[in-house]
Amino acid sequence: MTKYVVVGGNVAGVTAAKRVRDLDPGSQVALYTEEPYPYYYRPRLWEYIAGQIQPEDTYYRPVEWYAQQGIDLHLASRVEQFDPASKTLGLQNGETVSYDRLLIATGGRCFIPPVEGADLPGVFDLRTLDDAKGIVARAEQVKEAVLIGGGLLGLETAKALSDRGLRVTVVEFFPHLLPRQLDAPGSEVLATHLNQLGMTLLTGEVTQSIEAQGDDLLVSLKSGKQLKAGLVIFSTGIRSEVSIWQSGGVETNRGIVVNEYLETNLADVFAAGDDAEYQGMIYGIIPAALEQAEHAAANMVHTRSSRYNGTLLSTRLKIAGMKFDALGDSTLEGEDVTVLRLSQPAAGRYERIAIRGGAIVGAIVLGDSRRVQPLKRLIAAGVNVSYVQDQLFDKNFDLKSLIQ
Ligand SMILES: Cc1cc2nc3c(=O)[nH]c(=O)nc-3n(C[C@H](O)[C@H](O)[C@H](O)COP(=O)(O)OP(=O)(O)OC[C@H]3O[C@@H](n4cnc5c(N)ncnc54)[C@H](O)[C@@H]3O)c2cc1C
Repeated sequence: MTKYVVVGGNVAGVTAAKRVRDLDPGSQVALYTEEPYPYYYRPRLWEYIAGQIQPEDTYYRPVEWYAQQGIDLHLASRVEQFDPASKTLGLQNGETVSYDRLLIATGGRCFIPPVEGADLPGVFDLRTLDDAKGIVARAEQVKEAVLIGGGLLGLETAKALSDRGLRVTVVEFFPHLLPRQLDAPGSEVLATHLNQLGMTLLTGEVTQSIEAQGDDLLVSLKSGKQLKAGLVIFSTGIRSEVSIWQSGGVETNRGIVVNEYLETNLADVFAAGDDAEYQGMIYGIIPAALEQAEHAAANMVHTRSSRYNGTLLSTRLKIAGMKFDALGDSTLEGEDVTVLRLSQPAAGRYERIAIRGGAIVGAIVLGDSRRVQPLKRLIAAGVNVSYVQDQLFDKNFDLKSLIQ
């Protein structure tokens, strides 16, 4: 009987464990995860922070589900050692676990820049349910929050705190919000909307230090501005969890390097999700973690049976009714790239389409989500749109007509 071991109990780990059981019902599947909770849905942490749901409502499946699926679940079980020669893992509690096939799905952690005072009480980051619980406990006692980082996660967290009734200031290093997904004009449309919701946005600002002032925190920016708040949250990027695996000889770059079968450089060791780097890319999104987990599981059971070709980058943000989608190479520019724009700030609408070699390779869609699915399909299929380029924003032009 093959023994499959999965390390990491969130989307990638649990998806793969379930798939392995389905494909090899007679096998033994054990899942070890550091956190004390079963798989919970990280996007729901915002609803919890906003005061709309309880922590348990973020659980994707109840604890009983694992046993029903034949998955041997080990919560609060951190893996600390990895020895591929003996095919064993060492747990924090001293136990040794052996495997025939191993999936590493240990995801990522928040990256905090080296800012003085980042370790003070009242300063947080948001990755786990425990982080969210800490934020909620603090938010109950204070009225103002500073969010450092105006990316996707930072803005959603800012919105959640604002929904809770806190006054929120967002500090972004880049000259505009969502630098990875939005261009400057699109960001202006979004900023107008966020200002209307009562948030203060400071762009092109560098956080220099945080100091305690009585019960408050004082955030000093390089420009000389100072912000007083009871709660400060860093949302400044994610780093893959690689150190334990690296010490066991797994090849890493920014993440664990995997090939199209989600194999690492070591025999019988696979990786998927936020810790996996495929063709230089760490996606950091749920759709990629899901896809990679499905392929990894299939290949763990039937060697090289399922080929992964990458995931279309697509990001969706919904801030108080304003829907925003970034698809593919959404901010792509260059001599060989044609950029088409539609900007209607008053209507809260903005669209940017990047075309290369006649095909749409990326798009930003703010305010009209009906166009997202057809654009996604056009990008995935590489359809030639050059002959209708001038009509792509016409009210009466049906994007779906381009998809056969
Ligand atoms: C607040 C928030 C909101 C998000 N919203 C979205 C969204 O709307 N859409 C989207 O696509 N993505 C979103 N993301 C990103 C998404 O959650 C991640 O891409 C996804 O969780 C990655 O899944 P994963 O299983 O690879 O890793 P993770 O979710 O990081 O899970 C890794 C697991 O491994 C465990 N682990 C780590 N080290 C060890 C160890 N040594 N031993 C044992 N266990 C270990 C951890 O405890 C954890 O359970 C959001 C993230 C956050 C934080």
